[in-house]
Amino acid sequence: MPKKKITSLLIGTNNKGKLKEIRDLLPKTIKIYSTLDFKLKSPVENGSSFKENSLIKSKYFSKKTNLICLSDDSGLEIDCLNKKPGIHSARWAGQNADFNKAIKRIYRELNKKDKDWKTKKIRARFICVLSVCYLNKVIAYTSGKIEGLISKKKKGKNGFGYDPIFIPLRKKKTFGEMKPSVKYKMDHRYKAFKKIRKFL
Ligand code: IMP
Repeated sequence: MPKKKITSLLIGTNNKGKLKEIRDLLPKTIKIYSTLDFKLKSPVENGSSFKENSLIKSKYFSKKTNLICLSDDSGLEIDCLNKKPGIHSARWAGQNADFNKAIKRIYRELNKKDKDWKTKKIRARFICVLSVCYLNKVIAYTSGKIEGLISKKKKGKNGFGYDPIFIPLRKKKTFGEMKPSVKYKMDHRYKAFKKIRKFL
């Protein structure tokens, strides 16, 4: 744990949806920088787990800026697709981050797996691993997850990524249909964030 409270922090993501969500969770007393301020490209995420990829990003962006960096690696695991897209969640959307394409692929793979999938409960979860690094030093890392089901069709225009097809357990709406303020208080990033807050 650092001796002094962190006063400035780089959010190590080029994903505007995640940046907004993380920025909204942080204390207003911390000066926040984003990788977009430094026009930094993201590193190659060639780790084999959410944790490895999260650490690759926070170390890389910290070394590029000499700032303490908070990064997340997150994704959607679908049980009957052997936990795909998992750590490849961003890659399924391609270089243009086209999540219509990624969602179509999910429906295509579900159809391939089982033509009757719409009559069944398709279990899935979002996972997030947050890490805070200064250069190569790991200050902290935490994880959070939210369990849910895949919606039979895309619903809602809020959020980002796979939000329109994810229904948290015991809820009726997809993340895409929920108000952002409601989603933020229950999702995987918030749960990981609650655990990392004491290090900031
Ligand atoms: P990465 O962490 O940059 O590798 O990207 C993970 C991908 O998972 C993102 O591009 C999103 O599409 C998806 N993802 C992660 N968290 C969420 C979420 O809260 N809602 C919807 N999609 C998410």
